Amino acid sequence: MTMFVLKAFWDNEPAYYMNINDTIPSGMTFVHLTTHIDSATKFNSVEEAEEACSSLDTDAFKIYPVCPICGKDYDGHPAISRKDNKTKICSHCGIGEAFLDFIKNQKNSNDPDFGKAVLDFIEKQKKATNL
Ligand SMILES: [Zn+2]
Repeated sequence: MTMFVLKAFWDNEPAYYMNINDTIPSGMTFVHLTTHIDSATKFNSVEEAEEACSSLDTDAFKIYPVCPICGKDYDGHPAISRKDNKTKICSHCGIGEAFLDFIKNQKNSNDPDFGKAVLDFIEKQKKATNL
């Protein structure tokens, strides 16, 4: 299952949403942030993330999915895990899985030009993912 985080950027540094402290007497809302995704609040659905997002006084935060393999948030189109053909993962982990499959297949095929096969694979992935 995909989890989601709220992330904003200040001076190009990521700031993840943790929680809100609205018990300050002045009536101001204080938002706890963290620079590490490990301590960020993870939401079980986009709807939950949107709800938290809408309670913030700023539109600086955006919702990002978290890759269940590497634990990092990612932008853009997800890859689908080859393990179960449904789990959404980040494109880097998608390439990682594809590469492991590729190496397994190469081992079985006894291709003598392994180096060239690797380069061909990388070129193909670059085209497929626009990295
Ligand atoms: Zn990943």
